[in-house]
Amino acid sequence: MKILFLLSCLILSNTSIATASSESYYANIYADQLIKKFDQQLANGKAFNNSSELYKRIQLTRELIEHNDYDLKKYDPTSLLRVSNFENYDRVQQLVETQLITSTVDTLIENSLNVYPSASRAGNITGNTFPENTWSLTFDDGPHKTITSKVLNNLISYGQQASFFVLAKKAIAHPTAVQSILDYGMELALHSYSHANLSKASAETIDYEIFNSKHIVENSFNTPLFLFRLPFGAGVRNPYIRQRIADAGMVHVFWNVDTLDWKDKNPESIFNRVLLQMNNSPKNSGIILFHDIHPQTVIASKMVMEYLYSNKLKVCTVGEVVKYINNSFQACIKPKKDSI
Ligand SMILES: [Zn+2]
Repeated sequence: MKILFLLSCLILSNTSIATASSESYYANIYADQLIKKFDQQLANGKAFNNSSELYKRIQLTRELIEHNDYDLKKYDPTSLLRVSNFENYDRVQQLVETQLITSTVDTLIENSLNVYPSASRAGNITGNTFPENTWSLTFDDGPHKTITSKVLNNLISYGQQASFFVLAKKAIAHPTAVQSILDYGMELALHSYSHANLSKASAETIDYEIFNSKHIVENSFNTPLFLFRLPFGAGVRNPYIRQRIADAGMVHVFWNVDTLDWKDKNPESIFNRVLLQMNNSPKNSGIILFHDIHPQTVIASKMVMEYLYSNKLKVCTVGEVVKYINNSFQACIKPKKDSI
């Protein structure tokens, strides 16, 4: 009887999830498997690689999940639904594999001498050429009406500065949060208007998401923007998109530590993932990617701030490091002799 009930539940669930959200649902399960593998590789001492097939698969599953606006709260990793529809699961895997084949595989290499708006390697910074023991904390996808201020308070208490890559759409919706970012002396940077995947967008949309959003944020908050990060990092190897970012007078910012906090709800495992990537990085330096729209990010990023603080690592905004690489003195990296 119990088995019969279970079976009918599964059949009912199958019909209810064979809808538009099923793609996201199975992408979620697939993402869990991929992240498990990602964490295993980090534990084995492997450094973060922005062009590894595994990392690209994770990025592609995220696009599938967020493209369908799937509510992650509805997802229960212990649910029997995990194994209820292998056909849909296979379809999601195939979708990811198809896109992986068409995506470029070259590694993002940056110019360690000069960084400036350009479609060439000089116009993209990943963190791999950062000076030793220097880290940038970056927060994407906000501002959020409550999360951003919590992150800001933690940064202030550790005396650290971070870069906030805001969406113009959300910046307009939460202007006080943007004002707090600026008032606290943090760096404001741009992450498009609506978080559209620009690698799949028309030229018109690309321009709107880059130029119009820059114009909107700069005019609304009376501050110039020099740094841009593509949603999902998608299009960073696309010469046209990169040229448009350069035409808008901005440098593209990638990362070399991914928290995967958009998927992982556990602050401890997010922190461990960050720590492994930091320790596996060649010069103990680079750019850490967070999203200031998730509750788990507040706790996990505070743990990272504490780690940076207690290990006396340098914490600078991306803009400060760019200026330093371009031979401009930056106190956060090299204090003046008399202040030591
Ligand atoms: Zn984003």
